Amino acid sequence: MGFKRTHTCGALGVEAVGQSVKLCGWVHRRRDHGGLIFIDLRDRWGLTQVVFNPKADSPLHAKAKELRPEFCVAVEGKVSVRPPGTENPKIATGKIEVAVDRLKILNPSATPPFEISEEAQVSEELRYTYRYLDLRRESLRDRLILRHKVLEVIRRVLSEHEFIEVETPILTKSTPEGARDYLVPSRLNPGKFYALPQSPQLFKQLLMVAGFDRYYQIARCFRDEDLRAERQPEFTQLDLEMSFVDEEAIFALIEKVFSAIWKEVLHQRLSTPFPRLTYTECMERFGSDKPDLRFGMELVDLTGAFAATGFRAFREVVESGGKVKGLVATGGAVLSGKAVDALTDAAKAAGGHGLVTVRVTEKELICPVAKHLGEEALRKAAAQAQAKNGDLLLLVADKPEAAASVLGALRTHLASTLNLIPQQNFSFSWVTDFPLFRFNPELKRWDSEHHPFTAPREEDLPFLEKDPGKVRSRSYDLILNGVELGSGSIRIHQRLVQETIFRILGLPPSEVQERFGFLLDAFRYGAPPHGGIAPGIDRLICLLTDAPSIREVIAFPKTQKAVDLMTGAPSEVRQDQLKEAGISVVKQNRGV
Ligand code: ASP
Repeated sequence: MGFKRTHTCGALGVEAVGQSVKLCGWVHRRRDHGGLIFIDLRDRWGLTQVVFNPKADSPLHAKAKELRPEFCVAVEGKVSVRPPGTENPKIATGKIEVAVDRLKILNPSATPPFEISEEAQVSEELRYTYRYLDLRRESLRDRLILRHKVLEVIRRVLSEHEFIEVETPILTKSTPEGARDYLVPSRLNPGKFYALPQSPQLFKQLLMVAGFDRYYQIARCFRDEDLRAERQPEFTQLDLEMSFVDEEAIFALIEKVFSAIWKEVLHQRLSTPFPRLTYTECMERFGSDKPDLRFGMELVDLTGAFAATGFRAFREVVESGGKVKGLVATGGAVLSGKAVDALTDAAKAAGGHGLVTVRVTEKELICPVAKHLGEEALRKAAAQAQAKNGDLLLLVADKPEAAASVLGALRTHLASTLNLIPQQNFSFSWVTDFPLFRFNPELKRWDSEHHPFTAPREEDLPFLEKDPGKVRSRSYDLILNGVELGSGSIRIHQRLVQETIFRILGLPPSEVQERFGFLLDAFRYGAPPHGGIAPGIDRLICLLTDAPSIREVIAFPKTQKAVDLMTGAPSEVRQDQLKEAGISVVKQNRGV
């Protein structure tokens, strides 16, 4: 039978009853019932029930008996209404079925190593080895389709704003984004290597020097990091850059892009502008530079209440310029003694030295060190923190930022334990005014907080060489529900400032010249002021689809050991390939 399908497996409804149709797809399920054979035929668009009736065509029915899960088939038949009581309201085609009068097996299937269903419990190892089968599952299919729609919206909105999509090289030179580079040997230049881009950072800046004004790219980035749960060695960013703009122009553009995504993909309205918070404010109020604004529980400064406490651990901290910070866990008094003890461990894991807990009941404040702290001070603190009956008040005394970040870690932990996070909400924010540098105590040097191309705040320029720790940057992070979706900055566009930054970072001029000479050179030719951002696409899709991991929104992901289980990459290569590339492999005994 010449097989041009007339419909997809998600298309047919009652309006098609009586029509003769042709469908192609995979055998999703087969059920034999009272002589009839029912097949759920599946393709990307959905499922359609097709029926083989032995009374209508016995040889055809016999052929249908051969069908097994995942056979790829074509059928032709008549659409009919399903008998009353057998409709399936869960699927779009649930009111009809197709009475088959022709069947062609396009390709049989070996027995799949796992059932293609949402319910099947399958190990990740098996799923990634047979990813092409895993991708036949509805949830993965839907996530990839949604991903496509998001990219489509991004491209359209940016085109409407006169951005142009430009591809930048994959074989390139190292860009400092803080991770290790993936290296590629150059056969034509023995002993020399390309680096895969950690981001297109320098190219996008050079496109601004070139006068393109507005660039974007759905860019693949490569970072050779030890893979924590939510990292992939290669990932995708919406990389963009604009000329002659300030922070607000970039925020407004990104808010437009995200509003369009939410509207067109989720059919939800985002409220804009997103709240803007400075880094200092975030640390003080939420103990994190990625604040989750879906719930309250802000930190309170209770130093005043304990100014005269007899509790040495607190007094010493206060006397040396530290702070006592408090956090009220709403309804936290219900937590068991064990759960409260676990909070102390969590506080230590977050770098804290200790944690004081206060259960607030109607009659009293129950705190293991109440005597030392002083009843009066405790009452004052609880009142100031507005702790109510049934709450748990947590106190940490430490250097201001340390106290805040310990409580910040406990804040998100407790909010999720106590079910205080509204799951359906999306809460965006911008965090600004980060420090430009962070001191690296191990290497005794200043490192860039974002990357070395970030512009300092103009008013902080006088401190640049004298007191680098005081300089704020013009970088910004886009935060969604406590997750950093992307960072960006207004860039340095003047050669002298860029050279000063490299000097503060301790890069010798010869190294600067070798690594970034082309950028500094470009700045000599009328480089315009510019800035940009790069939101992570994988993480965005993960949040949009509530996927358990970014691996579930990437078609062919790698495992935590950076291995592609399906292709077997990375793998050894042939001797002659190594020889050609001028490489000899030193076997490493990594031990066990
Ligand atoms: N290149 C930066 C990054 O990958 C983003 C940016 O500054 O635009 O984080």
